[in-house]
This record gives sequence, structure tokens and C-alpha cells, in this order.
Amino acid sequence: MSVTLDLTAAERERILAKAAHFSPPPHILPDGRRDLVGLSREELLAEVEAFGEKPFRAKQLWHWIYHQGVREFSAMSNIAKPLQEKLAERFVIGRPDVATDQLSKDETRKFLFRFRDHEAVETVYIPDRQEDRGAVCLSSQVGCTLSCRFCHTGTQRLARNLSAAEIVGQFMAARDAYGEWPSPKGETPRLLSTIVLMGMGEPLYNYENVAKAMKIIMDGEGIALSRRRITLSTSGVVPMMDRAGDELGVNLAVSLHAVTDELRDELVPLNRKYPIKELIAACRRYPSASNARRITFEYIMLKGLNDSEADARELVRLIAGLPAKVNLIPFNPWPGSNYEPSTPEALRKFAAIVMQAGYASPIRTPRGQDILAACGQLKSAVEQAAG
Ligand code: SAH
Ligand code: SF4
Repeated sequence: MSVTLDLTAAERERILAKAAHFSPPPHILPDGRRDLVGLSREELLAEVEAFGEKPFRAKQLWHWIYHQGVREFSAMSNIAKPLQEKLAERFVIGRPDVATDQLSKDETRKFLFRFRDHEAVETVYIPDRQEDRGAVCLSSQVGCTLSCRFCHTGTQRLARNLSAAEIVGQFMAARDAYGEWPSPKGETPRLLSTIVLMGMGEPLYNYENVAKAMKIIMDGEGIALSRRRITLSTSGVVPMMDRAGDELGVNLAVSLHAVTDELRDELVPLNRKYPIKELIAACRRYPSASNARRITFEYIMLKGLNDSEADARELVRLIAGLPAKVNLIPFNPWPGSNYEPSTPEALRKFAAIVMQAGYASPIRTPRGQDILAACGQLKSAVEQAAG
């Protein structure tokens, strides 16, 4: 059933233009070839059938694209040369362009990936200090609409949502950079072992594309990363948290940052729509809360604002009974930011109270600060240059 709204033609035009503005561009190259990356299995099958090929070809392509990571049809050794050539005329296996690639002295690596319409996002690889593995921090939008006061990304206007192809593409391009696809010689390193959706943007404001991308990444015949190795961070889009729990079941991280609505309304303006009580209730409904997987609460420590011992006690009261851990994040300043990081003493006291209540309360060491790659410092370099 369609609902007819009383809109003038001009209003309709304006609203549609605005929606189109936020949507990613279709993945068709100027020469008419289609990018196969980012298609769901069903969509890939439909493309293959429309191309006049048998369904098993879709399975072969999926394997080459997502398991082997090949970018040329000519590398697909179980496909005959004439078909390889026909495929290459009609399709591509895309990647974002690497606009910049910076390495921090602590080995954190920040990529600026540019897409076909020249929009760009940052993707960060954070190696684990002790072991040969690490997390890839993916962006979900170009900019963010939510304007959290302490976040650099929030100062950038939202240019648009990323497509599923662009979200998966960040991970694939990071794998390219680390040579992490299966090698014919056996032995594949596994440095890029987890994904955190904590880059630019609010993943639950671009849910369809994020969900599609995560389903591609979790598919057992491709990249095959388990949902336990993926963490989605949200500033608290309550209705979408339920959907993400049902449909994806990945780990959940919630950017809490304050224990009273008064302060959270100011720090995370989305709180005015979904206040703390509703947010915590959604956490209690989240599937991983009912089995052994914990929900992570992210709590940015801001000097004199949210870092008192009373705040710590209230935090513990709010999350009582939830399987949870609390990541205490020292505030990372950026040019023009108005807050100060808490003192080490305040951090230590806060962490101790949370810990005594039975929750792990690691203090997150800032990584990649020298290249502005730490939490909340991401902002497309194009915008940075513009101020
Ligand atoms: N939009 C989502 C995911 C991206 S932000 C969200 O807000 O959860 C990833 C994390 O970085 C969030 O916990 C965010 O609050 C934190 N962050 C933002 N700005 C920061 C800053 N200046 N210093 C430290 N952490 C910051
Ligand atoms: Fe957006 Fe997250 Fe930054 Fe808030 S903290 S402005 S939701 S990216």
C-alpha cells in the first residue's frame, strides 16, 4: 500500500534529491562494466544467469573474489580463457583507490581510500601489541550526521552513506596491502583478524549497506570471518540495535560516555531521541547479552565532566546484571576540540570502581595519535585540508 502525501512537485523533487545525495552511487564504471564486489550471493547469481552462464559459475566467482582475493578474471584458473575474457568485458572486481597510506611509529596504519565519485574515508589497522594479529577499523559513512561534541568525524558534514561494496572494499584493500590472501605456497598470515565498525560514521544509520557487507564478510565460502570477530559500535540507535542483534549477531559496542541524560544529551545529541534508559534496555535485549558474549561500553574520559568516582558508581548501577566490559577511552584531542583528557589519577580511580564491581575496565591506550588515527580523530583528509 502506498501512502500519498500532499507534496508539491518541488517539495517531492527536493526530498528525492536529498535522499539521492546520501545514497552511494551505483557500481557501474563509466565504460558500463559492473563491479561484482558488494553483490550478495543472490545478486551475483542473478548477474551470472543474466549473462547466460550456469549457476555454478557464481560459486566459482565468489570463491575467487572473496576467498582468494583475486582482482583479475585471468587469474581464475578453473575458468576457460574465452570465458575469462568475456567476463572481463562485462565486469570488474573493484577496490577503492589508496589515496594515502600512513604508518604510525606504533605500527598503526591509516589508509585514506577514495571511491569512484572521489569521496574518501579513512580505514585504520591497529596491530595487537603482543600477538601477530590486529583489528581493522572500518568506516560506514563519509562523515557523520550525529555531531557528538568530542568527535572529529562529527564536525564533518555527512557527504553520503557507503555502499556495501565500499565497506567490504576497505577490508579487501587492507588485506591487499598486507598480502593476506591465501598464497599458493600455503601459510597465510592472519594479521587482519578482527573487524571493528568504529571508523567514520554511525553504522546503524546506514544499516542496510553495513548488514549486507557484514554478511558477505561472514560468508563461510569467502572471507569467512566469524561474527564473534566483528564488533559494531553505535552511539545508540535503539530500534536498529534490535535488528542488528537478530540479523547479524555480531558483538556490540555502545558509546555511552555519560551516566545522566543531562550530560549525554549534550555530548551525544542522539540521546535526546533515545535516552539512557531506553539504550540500556536495548542492550539487555541484545542477543549477545544473554549468552556469554559481553557488550562493550565505550566511555570517553573527559576531565571534570564525566570522570568522577560518583559517575563510576552510577555507571556500575546502570549496567548491573549485564554481561559487559567497559572500555575507558582517554579523550584524544584534535585541532579545535574543546575538551581535556582526564588525569591518569582520575582514570585509575574510575577504572578501579568499575573493576571492583566485577567488570573488566581496560584503559584504551591511544594508538596512531601521531597520524591522527586514534578514536574520534578520523576525518577525510580533503576536509582537513579545507579546515
Ligand atoms: N558512530 C559510532 C562508531 C564510530 S565512533 C559510535 O559513535 O559508536 C568510534 C568511537 O570513538 C566511539 O566510541 C566514539 O565515541 C569514540 N570517539 C569519538 N571521538 C573521540 C575522541 N576525540 N577521543 C576518543 N574517542 C573518541
Ligand atoms: Fe558520529 Fe560516532 Fe563521531 Fe558521534 S562519535 S559524531 S556517532 S562517528
